Amino acid sequence: MTLRDVPFRPIDGDVTIRVRAAGICGTDLQILQGYAAFSGIPGHEFVGVVEAVSAPDDARWLGRRVVGEINVGCGRCAFCRSGTKEHCTDRTVVGIRGRDGAFAELLSLPAANLHGVPDAVDDRAAVFVEPVAAACRVLEQIDVAGRRAAVVGDGRMGLLVAQVLRTRAPDVTVFGRHARKLTIARQLGLGTHDPAAPDPPHAFDIVVDVTGRADGLHRALALVRPRGVVVLKSTFHGEAALETWPIVVDEVSLIGSRCGPFPAALDLLASGQVTVAPLVSRVAALEEHEAALSQARRELKVIFGMPGANLPGV
Ligand SMILES: [Zn+2]
Ligand SMILES: [Zn+2]
Repeated sequence: MTLRDVPFRPIDGDVTIRVRAAGICGTDLQILQGYAAFSGIPGHEFVGVVEAVSAPDDARWLGRRVVGEINVGCGRCAFCRSGTKEHCTDRTVVGIRGRDGAFAELLSLPAANLHGVPDAVDDRAAVFVEPVAAACRVLEQIDVAGRRAAVVGDGRMGLLVAQVLRTRAPDVTVFGRHARKLTIARQLGLGTHDPAAPDPPHAFDIVVDVTGRADGLHRALALVRPRGVVVLKSTFHGEAALETWPIVVDEVSLIGSRCGPFPAALDLLASGQVTVAPLVSRVAALEEHEAALSQARRELKVIFGMPGANLPGV
């Protein structure tokens, strides 16, 4: 990754957003390893202000603080017409597939992807809308209410998924390997499993793998009860070698889970049901990208802050 001055080329029909802050996500780190074979400007978790529009109908967005859904569909296929543009085969995805992302001063995005950010959600929290939305996707896919849930992975995404699950299932346990991150999980009121103790076998109705690693699925399968559900949230570059017979014998459901609803995420952040301040390890300038990315491999959340953003330093 390099930092360069390049001309900004807004895409026809899009609005132009001046980025205020952008979060570094595990997917960005995986992209640097080759995931999705992406080249261009990465970054898909952002908050910004709409600076220019191309269609008169979009003028109402001018000057507004916004976050944006990252999938841009063709608008014509069956997926797009049924409101699931994230599965359009011709889609572009901000900073991941065929479209420049938010680690930049300016970003081009269709107005249809925008969501206004209420004052109750400051810039630091707004950067988390996209990953919290992805966490909320689990609630759309399975009924979590009153069930015993585990989250495998104590990283930035794991602590978001666990907080989102807790809005429906009070008994959520985080499994991780890092004492410091598990301490933050407990500060957030989440249950944690002692990394020195053996995992309780087949103890959970629902297990979400958010490790970002191949071995996360093994651990999740060992934790889930027969006829339970394992939700896969890890997108990593590589393969997971897996013995599949236990999935058959235990009749475990495996569910892939990606992008989710922005309005639900904005509500959870505005109401404080999901708290992100303890997750932010560092706010960096784009010029500090090398240090910021290497810190993002070890720490929870590292955010790029642009001049003028409302981001308390860390
Ligand atoms: Zn992400
Ligand atoms: Zn489409």
